[in-house]
Amino acid sequence: MTWCALNGTLMRLEEAAISPMDRGFLFGDGVYEVLALVDGVLRARDLHAARLTQSLRGIQLDVSVDAIFDSMDALIERSGLSDAKLYIQVTRGAAPTREHVFPTTIEPTVFLTASPFTAGALTPSRAIVRPDIRWHRNSIKSVSLLGNVLLAEEARQHGAAEAILHRDGEVTEASTSNVFLLAAGVLRTPPLSDAILPGITRHLVLELAEAHGLAIDESPVMIDELTAAETVFVTSSTRGLLPIVAIEPGGVIGDGIPSPQFENLQNAYQALLHHQ
Ligand code: PMP
Repeated sequence: MTWCALNGTLMRLEEAAISPMDRGFLFGDGVYEVLALVDGVLRARDLHAARLTQSLRGIQLDVSVDAIFDSMDALIERSGLSDAKLYIQVTRGAAPTREHVFPTTIEPTVFLTASPFTAGALTPSRAIVRPDIRWHRNSIKSVSLLGNVLLAEEARQHGAAEAILHRDGEVTEASTSNVFLLAAGVLRTPPLSDAILPGITRHLVLELAEAHGLAIDESPVMIDELTAAETVFVTSSTRGLLPIVAIEPGGVIGDGIPSPQFENLQNAYQALLHHQ
C-alpha cells in the first residue's frame, strides 16, 4: 500500500483526489522535489529544502517549506519505510476558471508520496545525445516536464538509460540528471546557470571531489569532449552516480569501462549515503 499526504492529511494513495481545475494539471503550474530516504534518514534534507524554496520563489508561490517537511516526516512514519523515494509536488492550486494569469485567492496544492525504493550503484549504461529542446529556466524544478519526458522516452526507445543534452554543442544536463566527465585527472561538469537544474547529487559529488583533492573544473563542456573523456557519468538523487560507457552519436567513452577515479568517487558517494 502506498501512503501519501495531500495538503497535510495522510491517506492511502487511492483515496487522494485533486480537482481537474488544479493549475498543475491545466498548466504544469507547479514545482517538485524528489528525495531519497536511506536507512531511515532523509538524505540532504536541508539542500532539498533550500532548492524547493528557490523553485517556489521562482514561480512566485508562497508556501511554508518547513510545514511541507513536517508533513513528509509524518508520511515517512506512517509508511513504515526506511528506504524510499519521496516525492513533493506543490502547485498553485485549483481556480474557478482557467486563466493563464495567477488567480488572486487560491490555496496551493501540496502532494507528497513515499514509495519503496533502494538507492544503489547501477550498472554502466549507454546514453543518446540530443539537442536540448526544453525551456530556458531549467534551474526551476518545474513539473512542466514535457521536453524531459520526450527526451527520456527517446532514450528508452534507443535502449539507452539517458539523453545527454546540448545547446549549440554545449552540454547542459541530461533528461533526468546532471552530467560529469573525468579527463586528465580533472572532474568537469557544466557551470550552474538557468540552463540546468542545480542537482543535489551534483553538489554532493563536487564536495566529495574537493574533499578527496580532485581537481574540479566547472567551465562549459562541449559535446565532443565527452567521447575524449576517460569516464562520463550522470547524477541524480535516485540514480546516484551512473557511468555512461557509450553515447550515440559519438561511440565508446574511454576504454568502455569506468576509470578507477570514478570508482573512488562512487565508493565515497555510497559511503556518504549510508553513513552521513
Ligand atoms: N537534472 C534534471 C533535469 C533532473 O530531473 C534531475 C533529477 N531530479 C537532476 C538534474 C538531478 O538532480 P538531483 O541530484 O537533485 O536529483
